[in-house]
Amino acid sequence: MPTDRATVPRSHAPLRWPVEPAQGGWYTDAEAEAARVVMAESSDWRVGWKSAEYVAAFEEAFTAFTGARFAIAFNSGGTALEMLLHYLQLQPGDEVIVCAVNFVGPLIAVIGQGGRLVLAEPEPVTLNLDPADAERVITSRTRAILVTHWNGAVADIRPFLELADRHPNPVHGPPVVIVDAARACGGRTPVGAHVGAEGWATMFSFESKKLMTTYGQGGLITTNDQALAEQLHWLRTYGGTEHWGTNQMMTKAQAAVGLVQLSRLDEMNDARIQQAHRRNRSLADIDELTLPPTRHDRRHLYYRHSLLVPDAWAGEGRDELMDILAARHGLGSIISDRPPYLFHRLIRDHTAGQHCPLAESLTSRLLCPCLHPRMNPSDEAEITQVIRQATAHLARTRPTLRPRRG
Ligand SMILES: *Cc1c(COP(=O)(O)O)cnc(C)c1O
Repeated sequence: MPTDRATVPRSHAPLRWPVEPAQGGWYTDAEAEAARVVMAESSDWRVGWKSAEYVAAFEEAFTAFTGARFAIAFNSGGTALEMLLHYLQLQPGDEVIVCAVNFVGPLIAVIGQGGRLVLAEPEPVTLNLDPADAERVITSRTRAILVTHWNGAVADIRPFLELADRHPNPVHGPPVVIVDAARACGGRTPVGAHVGAEGWATMFSFESKKLMTTYGQGGLITTNDQALAEQLHWLRTYGGTEHWGTNQMMTKAQAAVGLVQLSRLDEMNDARIQQAHRRNRSLADIDELTLPPTRHDRRHLYYRHSLLVPDAWAGEGRDELMDILAARHGLGSIISDRPPYLFHRLIRDHTAGQHCPLAESLTSRLLCPCLHPRMNPSDEAEITQVIRQATAHLARTRPTLRPRRG
């Protein structure tokens, strides 16, 4: 049974390896130099901190990198997604399909912009939204399908575009496909496209835990839709002279370091992918653990290294494993993420009556032990060793791996 625990282990022992490593905590002299230059030139009162040129350069670099026509930077991924949904002018009853295994942020954004959340199940290997289950819940009120690339395991966008085409909204036409790529910046999909090039619009986050960061906060939307791109510019800068809008600009310093981070993104992601593959090899012979999927048809970024324990350990057994890892070995891990309706009151009330048993059961078997490309090889060796020991301990005390009857 899924338990009610928070994602942080009950033990408060100091951890040698944190629960949630800051993937973006990897700056070099080049980022420091970019920041120094911005600081020096902005201290001139004739120049100041006006960010337009730097932000435009960052956006241009992003269109070149992803292949999308337009990129619009924001001060966070959350605000970017909210403005994107704002553009749709959702009316009461308008539905947005989201995967039940998700971060709170995208779900809150849908509620905030007046949409009705419709939950669908994940596909069991990648935990990405299952197109077949999205089809089960799509209706004539569906305005958008929101696909989150889960923990770096890049989703195939094509089935969602086809699904949308088969179920046009009578007023607005096919639902739009919105992609949440907060955890998949630099990924590539099975058609060889960069994440950000497919779907109606894609949201990126540059918060500190993400694959690249603009000083700890930042976001961006890519799209090929010119009308949307224009409107997003207004929305982020007080509506121009005609529209509603607010101030959600990225700063000059964020854009300057973002340019450097983007130029290093592939290299940083390569290091993470290699480390995840190393860990997969080291853990491959442990029967109790299901490793994250390796997909050769796409660039999977292993934003988190997701492990699944056996059914029989779901909930309590998984919790015990996390506690042993933390308390005895100082290894933090996170359940990334439980269906938000299980612990977030607003989301629970909003989705009353909807349940996703597969999402609940999969995430009650899930844990993501800390992985970061800057760990040194001896850290990594120790981590795989303690995962092995703790799993073996659990296998002794919870001998539940007998073949199931029936
Ligand atoms: C981080 C994150 C967001 C929100 O991005 P912020 O920049 O932190 O607002 C949205 N969706 C997912 C899946 C995320 O991981």
